[in-house]
Amino acid sequence: MSRRGFVAGNWKMNGDRASNAQLLDGLLAGANDLDGMDMAVFPPAVYLESVGQRLAGSEIALGAQNLCEQTEAGAFTGEIQGSMLKDLGCSYVIIGHSERRALYGESSQLVARKMAAAQQQGLTPILCVGETLEAREAGETEAVLAEQLGAALKHCGIAAFENAVVAYEPVWAIGTGRTASPEQAQQAHAFIRGQLAAQDAKIAGLVQLLYGGSVKPGNAAELFACEDVDGGLIGGASLKAEDFLAICAAAV
Ligand code: PEP
Repeated sequence: MSRRGFVAGNWKMNGDRASNAQLLDGLLAGANDLDGMDMAVFPPAVYLESVGQRLAGSEIALGAQNLCEQTEAGAFTGEIQGSMLKDLGCSYVIIGHSERRALYGESSQLVARKMAAAQQQGLTPILCVGETLEAREAGETEAVLAEQLGAALKHCGIAAFENAVVAYEPVWAIGTGRTASPEQAQQAHAFIRGQLAAQDAKIAGLVQLLYGGSVKPGNAAELFACEDVDGGLIGGASLKAEDFLAICAAAV
């Protein structure tokens, strides 16, 4: 089964107009050499329009870090509707990032509603799932993944995964410098693909599964070489053009 490599850069709440311009210059200078893989960046919402304008005509896709679960415009102060993201040129949206689950109380049910909203408005969701260190040490990694994935499957159905990406991001590896070993990543990815395959083997075989958690140029190749790892969701290292491009090269 051949799936395209995909590397997504989550800028989180970093950057300003000047640093974004510098980062994009670096990415655009190197992106041409990266045929045969998918690449996307996820700037803060206020910069989506300017980043999108700079990326126009390039191979680098644009995505948002979050969206509102509501699909109708209206009285939802501070929220951003999926159709607005689409209007700015976004193709993707990250949903259920562990920072949103932990810091902003997003439940798996809310994340599932965001997944449906994203697809209804023409965006490809990147559904993040992953266990805490406590859960891993208690032997509950698969139970956590099954619950997070199960909520999306229950609300959206397996067909939704024909147009979705799943990112396995162990919480203990995000921004910590501690990376899952290739064996740990492969085991979790195989479990995720197996959960999807239990409902539809063809869809499960095609869905891109990304690993996220302290991916760097030095460890990307061994992680992406795992059978069920199709690329990465990158935080810190996506803020340096040279590092992000080196990680992308490992996914070609
Ligand atoms: C992330 O925020 O999704 C992430 C994986 O961060 P980092 O690469 O910095 O660990």
